[in-house]
Amino acid sequence: MKTLNPNDLGKKYLVEECRRIRIEDFLKVYRNKLKELILISELEISGIETELTTSKTCYNGIRFWFKCPLCGKRSGVLHVHPLTKSIGCRKCLNLEYRKRRYKGMVEGKLLDY
Ligand SMILES: [Zn+2]
Repeated sequence: MKTLNPNDLGKKYLVEECRRIRIEDFLKVYRNKLKELILISELEISGIETELTTSKTCYNGIRFWFKCPLCGKRSGVLHVHPLTKSIGCRKCLNLEYRKRRYKGMVEGKLLDY
């Protein structure tokens, strides 16, 4: 018995009429799941207790963020406070950058000349 070939139906179909199955779409899903599993695993190994959250990028991708344990907002960087050892975002731990702290002092010194 001869198997039915779609081209035997007498009409040629357009690519646009067919459902597309792209390997890239499958890889994208698994890549994101794999990234999430690796991130969660690394956090557990490092003993850092925080959750992850995501946002969508403009190209339909996913970007991962830390969820600050103190305020719950998403952050790309968390800090461990040197005294309390609590983990949080820069705002929650009331941290500032060295450059900002000494900015006034440097400018003041330059004005003395
Ligand atoms: Zn925070």
